[in-house]
Amino acid sequence: MSSANFKQTLVTSALPYANGEIHLGHLAGAYLPADIYVRYLRLRGREVLYICGSDEYGVPITLTAEKLGISPKELVDRNYASIKKSFGGFGMSFDNFSQTSREIHSETAQAFFTDLHSQGVFKQKTTEQFYSSSQNRFLADRYIEGTCPKCSSEEARGDQCEKCGSTLDPTELINPRSVLDNSPLELRETTHWFLPLADWQEKLEDFLGRHPEWKDNVLRYCNGWFADGLRDRAMTRDLNWGVPVPLADHDGKVMFVWFEAPIGYISATREWAAQKGEPEAWKNWWQNPDTRLVHFIGKDNIFFHALLFPAILMAHSEDYILPDNVPANEFLNLEGQKLSTSRGFAVWLPEYLEKFSADPLRYTLARNSPETRDMNFTWEGFLARNNNELGNNFGNLINRVFTFIHKYFEGQVPEWSEEMMTDLDRDALKEVAADLEKWAGHLEKFEVKAALEACFHAGQVGNRYFDESAPFKSRKTDLERCGHSLGVIIQILRQLCLMLSPVVPFGMEKLWGWLGMESDLWAGGWEEGNQIIPSGRQLGKQEILFPRFEQEAIQVEIDRLQEMLGE
Ligand SMILES: [Zn+2]
Repeated sequence: MSSANFKQTLVTSALPYANGEIHLGHLAGAYLPADIYVRYLRLRGREVLYICGSDEYGVPITLTAEKLGISPKELVDRNYASIKKSFGGFGMSFDNFSQTSREIHSETAQAFFTDLHSQGVFKQKTTEQFYSSSQNRFLADRYIEGTCPKCSSEEARGDQCEKCGSTLDPTELINPRSVLDNSPLELRETTHWFLPLADWQEKLEDFLGRHPEWKDNVLRYCNGWFADGLRDRAMTRDLNWGVPVPLADHDGKVMFVWFEAPIGYISATREWAAQKGEPEAWKNWWQNPDTRLVHFIGKDNIFFHALLFPAILMAHSEDYILPDNVPANEFLNLEGQKLSTSRGFAVWLPEYLEKFSADPLRYTLARNSPETRDMNFTWEGFLARNNNELGNNFGNLINRVFTFIHKYFEGQVPEWSEEMMTDLDRDALKEVAADLEKWAGHLEKFEVKAALEACFHAGQVGNRYFDESAPFKSRKTDLERCGHSLGVIIQILRQLCLMLSPVVPFGMEKLWGWLGMESDLWAGGWEEGNQIIPSGRQLGKQEILFPRFEQEAIQVEIDRLQEMLGE
């Protein structure tokens, strides 16, 4: 359903894992599209709350912390601060960005677990799992290695053999050992709490059946899992870094991260409410059927957001809203190759922000948004998008118009009127108005790429109008006509500002000010942005919004990535 059918919209972006920095693949998948959507809603004056935070538990965090010789908490706090800073520089406009290692999250997740447990939702099962005596811990599948029973490769992992591609259960491995220290492993009994997802399959199928509008990729994955039949999933783990399981005598057990991390959206909302002094205000979002809940994620998280988390919400004894949409994106490739964080083949946000500003990257990623298939980011493409599109199509037009008005009309919107309208004027205004309408229609459906195409077209119309109405010529022959054309084109810039603002907010906040707009762009600026800018209004002094990049600036980046590929 469209956002207009609901009183308010609660938007979440997948919680980034606090084991490293944010890279371009993350941004293109779960962050930029969400931020564009949220900014669009704020522009329209709709009620919206945007929630995120870092996901901080699990084995990889403990391993990195051990390597660095610091505690897991120190590691996640350090990474949280860095991620938060990069997101700020990139213009992510969260209402709250929290951490799952905070007390409010443990409380919230434990209350959820207790509620489900007391209703008898979980199945308790005792199984045998590999235990490392040298490390005094049970090991997750990916930390177990051994000889493949099918092809005899000695480096098969607990979940699969890379050599022959077989999917494995760790107990099938011959001579299982720990990846961490090569020590032999023994099987030990352990008890866990399972969510019997099969019991929820029918309800989940009904739930998805009510959302035929969801993206094809999401429905396709879910229908595949339904066809296989949903199975029991352990919601607890034998680990020491996680949210402790809130049951008597179950020391050393924590919640499965995919049980507690999505509940992090709720804890972060509770924290937001507490911070503004209304600790119960979170309920007005999560337990209010007038709220539309939208989860932005990458395609690797579909199972957890479209099936597991809804099942957990359904199972709770209180009424929680379920997601109205889960717009999952495909992946972003880099220079034609898969991103690899372990090999360092990625572009990291903090490094990017040291050299460039946020707008050109936001624009490039939005233009290449991996909505229906994997997309590719290249530095050459980045240069071209910045110079040819942001610079030439939009920036130059804005600059030319403002320069002209400041030079010949004392910076005031010249006289222009209905009586002076020609077909050229009317057609240009009509085309841009149609683009604006298309743009809004696409954003309602999370179609960032198509929305930007409409916006780009409006920029082309503006340029064509400027060239054809030619105020630079009429200035010498017919000053009145010259002023009128500039008055018309200021209206086009006003609409371009609306269309570009969610994508390049830093630049458009400036333009909004130069146009002499009085309302807050992000609190319903749409209304003023759709009103005529009258003759006589004093305009602000402009500056270059989107400076050109030279080849040298990106060549360093290309060389660095090429070197890595050559290795
Ligand atoms: Zn094998």
